[in-house]
Amino acid sequence: MIEGGTIGDITWHRIVEAEGPEFEIGFLLPDATSDAVAPYRDWLEPRFLEPGTDRLIMTTQSYVLKTKHHNILIDSCVGNDKERRFYPPWSGLSGTRYLDGLSAVGLSVDDIDFVMCTHLHADHVGWNTRLVDGRWVPTFPNARYVFAETEFGFWSELNKKGKKYSDGCIDDSVLPVVEAGQADIVADDYAFNDDIWFQPTPGHTPGHVSVHLNSGDNNGVLSGDVVHTPIQCREPGWSAVGCSDRAQSAETRKSFLDRYCETDTLVMTGHFPSPSVGHVCRHGDGFDFEFSAV
Ligand SMILES: [Zn+2]
Repeated sequence: MIEGGTIGDITWHRIVEAEGPEFEIGFLLPDATSDAVAPYRDWLEPRFLEPGTDRLIMTTQSYVLKTKHHNILIDSCVGNDKERRFYPPWSGLSGTRYLDGLSAVGLSVDDIDFVMCTHLHADHVGWNTRLVDGRWVPTFPNARYVFAETEFGFWSELNKKGKKYSDGCIDDSVLPVVEAGQADIVADDYAFNDDIWFQPTPGHTPGHVSVHLNSGDNNGVLSGDVVHTPIQCREPGWSAVGCSDRAQSAETRKSFLDRYCETDTLVMTGHFPSPSVGHVCRHGDGFDFEFSAV
């Protein structure tokens, strides 16, 4: 099982919070009617789709990037003790798998220098905070939390209308970080250094960004939620129920897949089943995903 690797001088690890059957395919992807899915069923089952339930096999995970100088954590999963309505299984988690995963790669919460979220949905911001004595406090006490300005601006404005618009995650997983003085609001094309920078990929949310890695001749890209599940490579027009602009999301996904298709860029997905990383290749008029060897 690949849990990590290198992109030139950058070492990366996956920190998995959960993996298994999650959303029903027709719920997550409204275009995935039973007729539309039928031609793909043999290919989808059982690796990507649970037979009998039509639930997609998905991973919830962070990536940790170790550079010469810093440890950068990208996306922070669902988190413990959160209250969520959109997907009730995300409520009241209490597992230790996530923090154990961090320890397994030699890191404690004290060692993370930067935290960033590709977008501010509940399954990407959760471990930004944890509950201590009834208060949400930053999980990573020494980290700067880096938020892309369009995404942060969109959600902080919407949250003024009520916390239900973010299912509570801005209130419990973003604003406490700001109040603690650990947040930096940065440009949508922010660069951590010469090797790691944001690439705006809007559509799933208004300010969604992917993260590009380049070191020497080696390239990687963390796709965030540009694509949720491998069938969207075959059918890039299928956007997710949670996309704020489904047409823009489809356009972004097509151009993203086209840009990396048949290149040596390692595409590091947020939610694909393990090993989650691989390369985009051509398949007929569309695309496919070649997972890295396990
Ligand atoms: Zn997600």
